[in-house]
Amino acid sequence: MGTKGRAIVGVNVNKLIGEMNKALADEWLAYYQYWVGAKVAVGPMREAVVAELEQHATEELNHAVMLVNRIIQLGGEPIIEPKEWYKLTNCGYSAPKDPKVKKLLKQNIEGEQCAISVYSKLIKMVEGKDPISYNMFVSILADEVEHEEDLQALVEDMKDLK
Ligand code: FE
Ligand code: FE
Ligand code: MG
Repeated sequence: MGTKGRAIVGVNVNKLIGEMNKALADEWLAYYQYWVGAKVAVGPMREAVVAELEQHATEELNHAVMLVNRIIQLGGEPIIEPKEWYKLTNCGYSAPKDPKVKKLLKQNIEGEQCAISVYSKLIKMVEGKDPISYNMFVSILADEVEHEEDLQALVEDMKDLK
């Protein structure tokens, strides 16, 4: 990246890149969990759930793009080996072994709650020290908060079904 652009970052850049790569691992696993969950989902309100899962998959992939662009801008190397995803992930991966929509929603809500914690911590890490990364993390956090809300709303709607 530009030398001045790196010099204004007031945190340990290598440590920040390391944390961003951990978040990148989370985003790829979240992407796949949503994407494959949308394919296998069965049960009540399937179409509404699938539409939401597919939308979230796209948004998680966009988070991965944002993280990679910033890692490269900071002079770092993004994860280039998928097998690293499992080693670096904060939030893990919940395989949709039971594809019932209720179970899928529960797994993905847990994932979102973990993501909310991760980005809250990253925001605190760079607050007042790296405005570019700060803005990016705030923007991603806003999406993760919305994801949790969307999924919990579907669970609520399902309760009214008989
Ligand atoms: Fe995300
Ligand atoms: Fe999310
Ligand atoms: Mg949504």
